[in-house]
Amino acid sequence: MRQKEMYYSHDMDLFEPEKPFDRDFFKKLPKTDLHVHLDGSLRPETILDLAAKDNVDIGADTLKKLEKTLQPGKTHESLTDYLKAFDLTLKVLQTEESLYRAAYELIEDNAAESVDYFEVRYSPILHTDKGLPVTTILEAVVEGLKDGERDFGIKSGVIVCGIRNISPDVSMQMAELAVAFKNRGVVGYDLAGAEYNYPARDHLESFNLILSNNINVTIHAGEAYGPDSIHQALHYCGAHRIGHGTRLKENGDLLNYVNDHRIPLEICLSSNVQTQAAKTIERHPFKFYLDLGLRVTLNTDNRLVTLTTMTDEYYLAYKTFNLTSQNILDLVINGVKSAFIPFEYKKWFLRDTKQKTIELINSYGREEEKQPAKAQ
Ligand SMILES: [Zn+2]
Repeated sequence: MRQKEMYYSHDMDLFEPEKPFDRDFFKKLPKTDLHVHLDGSLRPETILDLAAKDNVDIGADTLKKLEKTLQPGKTHESLTDYLKAFDLTLKVLQTEESLYRAAYELIEDNAAESVDYFEVRYSPILHTDKGLPVTTILEAVVEGLKDGERDFGIKSGVIVCGIRNISPDVSMQMAELAVAFKNRGVVGYDLAGAEYNYPARDHLESFNLILSNNINVTIHAGEAYGPDSIHQALHYCGAHRIGHGTRLKENGDLLNYVNDHRIPLEICLSSNVQTQAAKTIERHPFKFYLDLGLRVTLNTDNRLVTLTTMTDEYYLAYKTFNLTSQNILDLVINGVKSAFIPFEYKKWFLRDTKQKTIELINSYGREEEKQPAKAQ
């Protein structure tokens, strides 16, 4: 039975709702997004606006035409096929102003759906078509995020990406950039791009530089290639988190290692179906990992290209896998625990998020009860 008054101690009671959680509940739920690509998360209106302003031909001048070209949310043949949409989005992200705007709007969009903290990743080298220096490319995004944080009251960080299918020398250049901007907006380093045929260990030099500078590492692995890719990410490149890890289930030993060492998995459900890392949403190993106790987090990957939000990802997980209140709380807490933020801040953030989440879950469906009694 529900208690009338709740006092929040360390072990707070958590209730199952009397009616199913709706989408609005997940919109209000405090969330994190630790895996979101800047160049895959633009607003469609912004793409059109930037293309017109900068006189860039993107083959579309209306939202309808843009949708037809980009096909957001489409299931593709492979990750490589999925990544083609970025050719278009990158075309309009070649100026300081456009990068600033993309970053600023990402804060606004996240704040609007109760994402209290996110880490946005991108590879500055992909924004040099018009000769912009990589330092300017990084500064523009950091500036956009900083102004967004001030205006919308949430927090963020940047993860610099090396690209698997571009030369390791370029990864080294990206690593040097991350080193220079550590504690000045950059919170981590990643390796993104086509996984198949492009092993992470080819980029070892960049990881050595990153790790010797005590910078956080996350690596896309086990998405388009098997557990060996995750093994390399962890044991050759020193990854602290794994991007996706969808195929981790294929190696039980590594699966238990990841669990024992509390290595977070950045799960992106919708994206995994669209790249066919998972055949269907029902066959995604997400719930299996969660039940095993792995540190599973939910993330968007690409808000535009995947046509999703953090609210949608939580709601999809809830509906597909019949999550309990405890599952939802665990996912929220895993997100905070896995963030690349200083421990002192994390302790406070964790306490605050836990309390907010429990209050939200326990008050769900009880709004009427909270209304003050009508005056006689
Ligand atoms: Zn990704």
